[in-house]
Amino acid sequence: MSTLQSVTSVVDLRAQVDTWRKAGESIAFVPTMGALHAGHHQLVRVACERADRIVVSVYVNPLQFGQGEDFEKYPRNIDADFEALAGLGVDVLWTPAESDIYPDGALRTELTDAGPIGDVWEGASRPGHFTGVLTVVKRLVEAVTPDYLVMGQKDAQQLWLVQTMLATQAPPIEVIPVATVRDEDAVALSSRNAYLSADERQSAQAIPRALGAAKTARTPESAVQAARDVLTSEPSLTLDYVALVDSTTFEEVSSDTFAGDAQLLIAVRVGGTRLIDNARLTFGQ
Ligand code: AMP
Repeated sequence: MSTLQSVTSVVDLRAQVDTWRKAGESIAFVPTMGALHAGHHQLVRVACERADRIVVSVYVNPLQFGQGEDFEKYPRNIDADFEALAGLGVDVLWTPAESDIYPDGALRTELTDAGPIGDVWEGASRPGHFTGVLTVVKRLVEAVTPDYLVMGQKDAQQLWLVQTMLATQAPPIEVIPVATVRDEDAVALSSRNAYLSADERQSAQAIPRALGAAKTARTPESAVQAARDVLTSEPSLTLDYVALVDSTTFEEVSSDTFAGDAQLLIAVRVGGTRLIDNARLTFGQ
């Protein structure tokens, strides 16, 4: 029998968290925008291994969507999400209303600036996106006060920015990264995959192929070139960016003699859908 509780207000959430804290229990938090898939489920499994209590939020954050983006049509399926989370042993599904997160309204809220790394790659293509993400993560985390925040490596730049934001947080919150979960055709699971037609889905398979090609390259330049070659040979993909960044600083790898861990980032458009993916590459070791 599931004991999953669904709560909306911050007051109810806090009452539950306080009860757990008094009992000495640890808390892991998995923030999501819902339309949950096996990638999200994996985050929950990892959370369950770490903490006594698990909170999952489902909140489609208006602040992280730009004008003309898919805020209105973003897939929402809260009943199915509840069922899935109940089966995974989650304790609380938190579905805040906008007024719970932004009591003064989303447009009047104090923003958490994402800094220079918030303006490159995804940030350049989606101005304001990461400020919106950091603002909501800060609000969510202030309400849940978790010990652990579980996030996917699929959104590598988001993960880096959140880790950086929380690095100086007291009491500390440990960010736990989870490897990207992929479908049978190696395309990374994403709620936005629901927008793809069968043909577009076929084209999207070039993304993991490009990551695979980059992994076999010996140097940073040849890795970027290999990925680019695969993506540009797929006529129905429009390339947004291919970038290689230092995993520690998230700054572009500018030297072909770079040694260490890097992240190859890919963003493409397939029809009307924007897809991102990434892979960890290690050089010179
Ligand atoms: P979203 O609902 O898209 O905001 O994602 C919520 C969390 O799930 C984020 O930490 C994502 O990085 C993570 N996530 C999304 N897709 C995947 C995936 N395919 N594998 C692992 N984690 C994922």
